[in-house]
Order: sequence, then C-alpha cells, then structure tokens
Amino acid sequence: MASRRAFLMQAAAAVVATPVQMSRAASSARSASTGIVQTVLGPLAASKLGFTLTHEHICRYPVRVYGDRANAVAKAVDKLKEARDSGVDTVVDLTPFDVGRDIRFGEEVSRKSGMQIVACTGQHLFAPESFNERSIDEITELFIKEIEQGIEDTDIKAGVIKVATVSGSLTPAEERVLRSAARACKATGVPIETHTHARERGGESQVEIFEAEGVSPARVSLGHSDDTDDLSYLTGLAKRGYTLGMDHLFRGKAEGEKVSWQRRTEYVKQLIDAGFVDRLFLSNDWTFGDTEREKLNPDGMLFNTRRSIPYLKRLGVADREIRAITVDNPRRFFSRG
Ligand SMILES: [Zn+2]
Repeated sequence: MASRRAFLMQAAAAVVATPVQMSRAASSARSASTGIVQTVLGPLAASKLGFTLTHEHICRYPVRVYGDRANAVAKAVDKLKEARDSGVDTVVDLTPFDVGRDIRFGEEVSRKSGMQIVACTGQHLFAPESFNERSIDEITELFIKEIEQGIEDTDIKAGVIKVATVSGSLTPAEERVLRSAARACKATGVPIETHTHARERGGESQVEIFEAEGVSPARVSLGHSDDTDDLSYLTGLAKRGYTLGMDHLFRGKAEGEKVSWQRRTEYVKQLIDAGFVDRLFLSNDWTFGDTEREKLNPDGMLFNTRRSIPYLKRLGVADREIRAITVDNPRRFFSRG
C-alpha cells in the first residue's frame, strides 16, 4: 500500500511537472457543455444520474483485505449490483490519489456491475508533503488535467473535485488546495465536494476561501455535515446556498457517539422543514475494504435506503422530498452551471 501510494504521488507529481498542452481558455470551452457529467465509463447526461449516492469510496483495491485483484473485483461488483437492485443508479466516488485511488479498478467494477460511477480529482491531505512544495497554479493544473485529459495515464476523467480540511481552521497547505479547487471549478464547471470537521464548524472556513475565489455556493457541497448537532451552523451554510452532505448517518451507531443516527436523520427532517430540501445530499461514506467500517455499518451503501429513508418517511417526509434530495439535487449539482 505504502509503495503504491508513493507511486501515485510520483504520478501526480509527474503530471504537475508536465506542461498542460491546451490553453485554459480552450479547455474551459471544451468542458463547459452543461448537463454532462463525466463517469468512469465516459460522459453521461446529468438527467440520467438517477438516484445518486454523493459520497462513497469504491475506486480502491485493498490488497490486504482481498488478496488478488479478481477476488476484489468480484466482491465490489457484488456490492454494487446489490445497491443497483435496491434502486441506486449512480455512486460518486470521493477517493483521490492520496487515499489510494485505483481508477482502473473503478472502471472495471462499473462496467461489470452496471453501476454508474463518477470519479474525483482533488486530495485528502493524507499526503500533505505532496502538496507542501506546490504552488496554487501547479495544484490547479493537476486538478484541471484530471478533469480535462484524464486521471493518471488513462483518459478517464474526473467529474468532481474532492478537498479535505482536518479541523475548524486551515493550514497554509489546506488553504492553497482550497484555492486550487476553486480555480479548477471555475475553469471547468466541475463542482466541489469537501470533507469537513463539522463539530469545529469547518465548513465556514472552507467557504470563506471559496467565496474569496468567487465560486458559486451552488457548486459546493460540504461533506460530513451531519457530524454536528449544531443546527444553526447547518442552517447558516444552507441559507448561504451551500449543499450539506449528510453522509455520516451510520456513524451515529458507534459506541459513545454523541449524535445517534436517528438524531442525524431528525436533523435532515428539520432542515427540510426549515425550507432547505434543495440543499441536502444523502450518502453513506461506505469504503470498500474497510473492515472496521463494515462492522459498524453492515448495510454499507444501503444504510440510508434501509434505515434513514424509511425513518424520514415515518417522520412525515414526502416521497417527492426524498426524490428531491436523492435525484434532483445531484442532477442539478452535476449539471455544470
Ligand atoms: Zn469519505
């Protein structure tokens, strides 16, 4: 794993070092077609995304868990087929290179399962050293290269930009990466999904940078927002136009966890009641091959389908509101604005 990660970092570094052939203006013109989202199998009309899980992790091949690749492919295909049979049409994969992304793996399991998969560019700061030495321009070029030309040595294009910050405030490296994501978003029209530390109101420091860079709030989703029980933090960001990724509901099952999954679900209902049905995503942050997470959440990518959504319905949420969150919001978000 370590050597593969090192390799991927070198690959990313090589990409950064290679001059991007096309001019920024030409590349934006090419990618600005609205209503198209790039999947691992090529471009797709956003209207065909259907029921979309907006934050999961599939494009990785955990050798230590599955041994040979064929076995891992078979396991992932089983999981994806099960999700498809339960009504999931699309999975957005938020695994950037520094979390061990294997884009060929994502392509193969998408083709074999029939599940539509959107891959990401970006970073998770698990390898901050790979960004410490790089300028905003260099990081922006890397993100744009993965969106316009392809990820690593493939022509599989990223359909979303993932960025992460680890606390409530920003390190200088995190700030540079956020600015790069903002510039790549503006240059290509591809939206941004983030990893936030919601309990420290991490979304607020992220959007400060996005706003300074002139990114529309409609192009940004703040992930892991349900980790907090501070409703004023959530409504504040939703009011400003940001989409709240409610993607950690399963975490409420962990022993000693302050905000139970039921409470997180009730907050979704309260946000709907407060008028923010158009500002919500639901997902499961399922991570293929993460055995600890699997123990906590045996339902995996179907946690919301089996638990949170039925509970929302019992709380009085209408089918059209569930559809708005799971189908209409992702379609709008991924239709380049
Ligand atoms: Zn995640």
